[in-house]
Amino acid sequence: MPPFDVPEGDPFGPHNLPYGVFSPAGADGPAGPAGPGAGRRVGVRLGDRVLDAGAAARALGSPYASLLARPSLNPLLAAGRTTWSDVRRALTAWLTVPSHRETIEPFFHPLSSVALHLPFEVADYVDFYSSEHHARNVGRIFRPDAADSLTPNWKHLPIGYHGRAGTVVVSGTDVVRPSGQRKGPADPAPVFGPSVRLDIEAEVGFVVGAPSRPGTPVPLADFREHVFGLCLLNDWSARDIQAWEYVPLGPFLGKSFATSVSAWITPLEALDEARTAPPARTHPLLPYLDDSAPGTEPGGYDLRIGVEINGHAVSGPPFSAMYWTAAQQLAHLTVNGASLRTGDLYASGTVSGPDPDQRGSLLELTWNGRDPLELPDGKRTFLEDGDVVTLSAWAPGAGGTRVGLGEVTGRVVAR
Ligand code: MN
Repeated sequence: MPPFDVPEGDPFGPHNLPYGVFSPAGADGPAGPAGPGAGRRVGVRLGDRVLDAGAAARALGSPYASLLARPSLNPLLAAGRTTWSDVRRALTAWLTVPSHRETIEPFFHPLSSVALHLPFEVADYVDFYSSEHHARNVGRIFRPDAADSLTPNWKHLPIGYHGRAGTVVVSGTDVVRPSGQRKGPADPAPVFGPSVRLDIEAEVGFVVGAPSRPGTPVPLADFREHVFGLCLLNDWSARDIQAWEYVPLGPFLGKSFATSVSAWITPLEALDEARTAPPARTHPLLPYLDDSAPGTEPGGYDLRIGVEINGHAVSGPPFSAMYWTAAQQLAHLTVNGASLRTGDLYASGTVSGPDPDQRGSLLELTWNGRDPLELPDGKRTFLEDGDVVTLSAWAPGAGGTRVGLGEVTGRVVAR
């Protein structure tokens, strides 16, 4: 098959074109010719191949070569929305116009032959809590006697916390089981040791490209001026550590040991057909969060997520069910005047739908361990050493196509 062509219906066809950072076989790491990191470059995925975007740009005399011939996506992220569109248009032409084929061909690498790296330098990392189904499940599990499974603030603002940017890792990175303090309600004193309730959270991460000025909130309408794209994200969570430490300041060491992201960042422009209205709002919103006004762009995305443990499907969370949108999350996280930096990453919060098989965490899927999952390789309440968790997703594209998101996978290893 000629390099340009992808099979009919491939979710990574020329309608998608996600960005990543790769190094060709043998070019990266201590054994490489110029030391660690020397071989890294921006890649664009087409089917099961990766285009060396900077090399292709140089060969074609493109003005975008200086943005693309880099070891990170950050320069492209910082360039802003007009440039994002221009580069995407150029790439689409390179990959579809037959006269470019001969020039482009040498710059493809088989996906299976390359090493994939964290595609951007993560600046700040924020995690939200924006699925009503998830929040209600958690409320029922941990506050069974409460009159309302949601906290009083939940319908008025997207709840979030600042996480640890330095431990965001690319898909494929092993996750070392965290250790910490835990204390059950019946325990007389806390104990220290490896987490015995290690969990996942199936989420979507949004990658900020264009920065904002301190003191200047980003309104809902400017979401696409600042956010470059999205990726799947697994917010690994040690429930036992979390339960003991989180009062009153929120998640800390139960979350900060690792957060996995896909190697591929899907530009928002590839997901235009997947935009959808969020669920009906049940409470009036303050003006900076109000997305009900006529003419407001639909803020939701119809992403169909799949969760697998050791290759067995355990859940299918629908992102379209998220109550708070990414635009509202961005408006909220800047409304106090906090500025954005290129490379900021914010995650949606665990994606859970209304049905039991649409829950995005083992906490919910097993109802805090009460109802173990029956997998072909044994029962699971929480994760065991050696377990491999993989999130995948697709979104509807134009004309019945599917837009694939890059998977995020990780294996739990003992310390
Ligand atoms: Mn989370």
